[in-house]
Amino acid sequence: MTRIVVVGGGAGGLELATKLGRTLGRKKRAHITLVDRKASHLWKPLLHEVATGSLDEGVDALSYRAHAKNHHFDFRIGSLRDIDRERKVITLGEMRDEQDQLLMPSREIEYDLLVLAIGSKSNDFNTPGVKDNCIFLDSPEQASRFRTEMNNEFLRLHAKHGEGIVDIAIVGGGATGVELSAELHNAIKELHNYGFKDLDSSKLNINLIEASERILQALPPRLSGSAHKELTNLGVNVRTSTMITCAEKDGLITKGGEKIPAQIMVWAAGIKAPDFMKEIASLETNRINQLVVKDTLQTTRDDDIFVIGDLAQCTQPDGSFVPPRAQAAHQMASRAFSNIVAKLNGRELKPYIYKDKGSLISLSRFSTVGSLMGNLTKGSMMVEGRIARVVYISLYRMHQMALHGMFKTLLIMLMGRINRLLRPKLKLH
Ligand SMILES: Cc1cc2nc3c(=O)[nH]c(=O)nc-3n(C[C@H](O)[C@H](O)[C@H](O)COP(=O)(O)OP(=O)(O)OC[C@H]3O[C@@H](n4cnc5c(N)ncnc54)[C@H](O)[C@@H]3O)c2cc1C
Repeated sequence: MTRIVVVGGGAGGLELATKLGRTLGRKKRAHITLVDRKASHLWKPLLHEVATGSLDEGVDALSYRAHAKNHHFDFRIGSLRDIDRERKVITLGEMRDEQDQLLMPSREIEYDLLVLAIGSKSNDFNTPGVKDNCIFLDSPEQASRFRTEMNNEFLRLHAKHGEGIVDIAIVGGGATGVELSAELHNAIKELHNYGFKDLDSSKLNINLIEASERILQALPPRLSGSAHKELTNLGVNVRTSTMITCAEKDGLITKGGEKIPAQIMVWAAGIKAPDFMKEIASLETNRINQLVVKDTLQTTRDDDIFVIGDLAQCTQPDGSFVPPRAQAAHQMASRAFSNIVAKLNGRELKPYIYKDKGSLISLSRFSTVGSLMGNLTKGSMMVEGRIARVVYISLYRMHQMALHGMFKTLLIMLMGRINRLLRPKLKLH
């Protein structure tokens, strides 16, 4: 039986393993194994909501083991360390507990077809002090760290009966930085309602710092202007054309030498693939460690290795690269699935073409802005407000549908509604 190993159970990898399990796995045409370094999956675009407590990771995370059991694939926990293309094995690193005691030794897994989908992490562009002083917000642990630090600052302020201010600096005016800024204002409003009477938006000083001349470069200027205005109305200090050259313990230094003081600093200014990818198995990589793939999503140097999601550098017919987005990971999972089936059946593989469905940015419950692309809209259509909110949520619903099917997704939505009635609006502990 063909052994298909998918490494990375994120936006792309988990959808692919689920599809492969439901079809080839169920019919015993292939043995599917999913590997992830974590025991549970949380859709990455939700991380800014976990960071502010608007979303409880414990409620929304999905257990890989339970999901694997229901979808005819195996799950192995572990971190990819190396690939031996000649022997067709991957190596997972050893696992240790919090006291540094060995939990599991290093292991090998054999494959016939390998899919790499381990995503990306924040890129600090080697800016001095960033690694030590900033939070990256690219994993559930970092999101929890942000929430703990934020809650501690709010508690300190509360103990001083609201005297003082919490300074938060966010570097990067892309979707993550913009959404986090708005979500923070929502969080402090909710905390006020839950008994922290001396906390309100006036106690929050957020600097959102962007090196280029406008935030949300992926959106048309009118919409990024709209988001800029909305953030300013909330009290966020949006600073464009400001380059950060260094991060210190208590603030950021700009190229012009100004110090922006901050108790909490977030770095969300770009992505790269993990550093160990650079040299892995002599596969072709680019300057941000992404693996270069052909339009079929196979690596340029090995047809038995597919790459999807943020880890792939995939060139489009017009010469541009597929952007690192959840919608691209979702589409690539579908194309990789049909290409794997085609390969097993000796049929021709088809190229992956990115279909931009638009970009939407949630400004928490205050607003949503974005642009929709596609046949129906005959190009690009700008959307704001309620319609944009509905479409924004639909991207997550599509991910849930790919994992659970229509019926279970409807049940999850119903459960979400019930939870909203029963549980506090903010994770308070
Ligand atoms: C805060 C935030 C907000 C975002 N908002 C949006 C949005 O609104 N819209 C949008 O389109 N995109 C958004 N994105 C981008 C989107 O999340 C990514 O493009 C998408 O998740 C990429 O999917 P992926 O499958 O490549 O990787 P991921 O979803 O990151 O999954 C990677 C998986 O690999 C696992 N892994 C990592 N390293 C290893 C290893 N060595 N061994 C084994 N497993 C490993 C991880 O645990 C993870 O489960 C956002 C990103 C962030 C951080």
